[in-house]
Order: sequence, then C-alpha cells, then structure tokens
Amino acid sequence: MKRGSNQIKKVVIYRANFELEEPFRTSLAEISAANNIVIRIHLENGLYGTGEARPNPVVTGETQSSAFAAGKDKLHMLTGKSAYDIEGRMNDLDKVLTKNSALKSAVDIALYDLLGKISDMPLYQVLGGEKRPIWTDNTVSLYSAEEMAQKALIYMEQGFRALKVKLGDSPERDIERIKEIRRAIGHEIPIRIDANQGWSFKDALKVLKTIEGMNIEYCEQPLVHWDLENMRELRYRVAIPIMADETLFSPQDAFRLATMKCCDYFNIKLTQSGGIHKALMINAIGQGAGIPCMAGCMTESRLALGATAHLVSARPNIRFCDLDGHISMKTDPVIGGVKYAGGDMELPDAPGHGADFEPDFLESCEFAIIE
Ligand code: MG
Repeated sequence: MKRGSNQIKKVVIYRANFELEEPFRTSLAEISAANNIVIRIHLENGLYGTGEARPNPVVTGETQSSAFAAGKDKLHMLTGKSAYDIEGRMNDLDKVLTKNSALKSAVDIALYDLLGKISDMPLYQVLGGEKRPIWTDNTVSLYSAEEMAQKALIYMEQGFRALKVKLGDSPERDIERIKEIRRAIGHEIPIRIDANQGWSFKDALKVLKTIEGMNIEYCEQPLVHWDLENMRELRYRVAIPIMADETLFSPQDAFRLATMKCCDYFNIKLTQSGGIHKALMINAIGQGAGIPCMAGCMTESRLALGATAHLVSARPNIRFCDLDGHISMKTDPVIGGVKYAGGDMELPDAPGHGADFEPDFLESCEFAIIE
C-alpha cells in the first residue's frame, strides 16, 4: 500500500444511543441508556477506522452533546494529515482541546483500528503483543443488599470468575451488602469493590476493616478523586489493596500516584486516558513502579471494549479486566469483535480491533461529517 494514500479524508461523528435492560446505578449516578459517541475516520484510499466512547458527565465532564459539538468544532484538524502518526494527531488535538477524554478516546481507537487495517494485523499485534486468554468480571450495580445478592448469585452461576460490586452510598448499608452477597454466593470467588469516591476517610476505614476477611480482591476509588493524601494513608491502614480510578486520567496522574505511593493498582480506562496511546504510557509507568493494572470501561459496546481487550492482550502488566459495559445493553449492533462466553473473552484476528457497527444502526444515528 502506498504511504501517501494514508491521508485522512474525512471524519464522521455519530450520537450512538444504547438502551439498557435495567438502570445502572453507582454512588455517582444512575443511567437507563448509554449515550455514546462513535467516530469514523475515512482515508483517501477508502479504508476507514471506527472508535467509540461514552462521555460520562460525572467522570470526564463531557455529555454526548458537548462531545458531539467539540468534535464538530475541532476534528477538521485531522483531515489532510497522516493516519500513521497517531502521536502527532492526538498531540494536535490536545493543543486545541483540553480534557474531553471520551471524545479523544473515540478518535484514538479509530486511528488504531486504521493502523491495523493499513498493516493488515490485529490490534494486539500492532501493539507488539500476543493473543492470550483474558476474562472479565461482571458488575453488580448499587441497590439493596437483597437485590445485589440475587444478582451476584446469577452472575456467579453464569460463570463469571470474579464479581465487581458497586458500593459507596452508606458505610452501614455497604457492609450489609457485602455480608448478604457472601451469604448468597459463598466465599470462593473474589469480590472487587468500587465505592466511586463515595466514602469519607473514616467511612472507608470502617467498611474496609470490617470486610477485610471476606475475600475482597481490591477496592476501587474509595475517596473523592482529588484526595491523594488520604488515599495514601488509607492504603497503609487497611489490608485490602487500593485501586485508583477517577483519580487517574493522564500519565502525569499515574506518575504522581506512583511516586506518592497512593495505590496498589491502576484502573486504566481509555475513556479517561483519551485512548490507547496514553493508556500505554500509564501502563508503562505502572509497570516501572511495580503497579499492575486493570482495564476498565464505561457503559460501552463490544467495539470500545474490544479495542481495550486488544491492549490488555498485548500488555500482561494489565492483569485484571472489568470489560462488561455492553452486558446490560438491550441490543448489540456490533459486527465481529470480541466474543464473550460467561466472562471469557476471545479476541478476533481480523485487522484492527476487528469490530464494526451494523450499517442500519449507524444510519439511525444523528451524525455530522467533518472534512
Ligand atoms: Mg471504578
């Protein structure tokens, strides 16, 4: 293929909405639909790459509307330039638009998809890695102890090897939730908990000390995202490992968390890092500091989750997967892509991330063409 033909011709941005089977609740918010952004980048040579992300107002500060508008305003700067130079394209975007990590992630995933298609390699190979077996947990959203215990039992019976449990609205209720879930599912499979910033330092100490012996694998983001000092203090006071999530967007955040010794693990989300190119930097900082990572997600389809799964496969320092965002969606308009069997995930060998959206689905979405 001719190098000169890999110029970006146009970008199309879509509002892609996915209804959920039931509301997804955390201590931050409740949603009944995922209002996502899809980016398709077309080259002069006819190839295209596709990316997706969920702008999450309470985490990334974006809404679907703001990301759609920002994309229409700024993505023209990609056109006429090389799709090979992902670092260059993303640096261009960073110069004219700060934050907006979900929009940037959708762009970055589309560029990596293209790099795979140009080089005729699956994304895990483009990233210099190999295909390895990976599996995800499934997440129990925040409801009453009884309802959560019921869900936990169903997910365990479906074959998930670990459960993630949302907590963070009340320390007393949170302790009861974990006890009730353990009564329902026994003590065999690990539980990962996520308070989504919901606890004070004292709440966190109380809950984590009480549930220490209950096979809790780690606790995501116990405290408000800016409170690094108490995050470090908590880490030294409790036995349950602490994972940074909403505190971690950039490689600079990762460096600060590592040097301050605030956490045992990083949760890498493409929607927060602004895509794969910076997720690689965050993972490298983690690896250098002896911090294993998890790959997480927002409520996204198998397309965005699959792109993340390729990264996981290529980087064994990413030890855990929480790539279950699509499970609660009413429809699955993704063609190809990563396959799920219970929690086990199988990556495709098609070029790029190997996933696309059904044409009918994209035609039903509001879109804008940027040339
Ligand atoms: Mg989290």
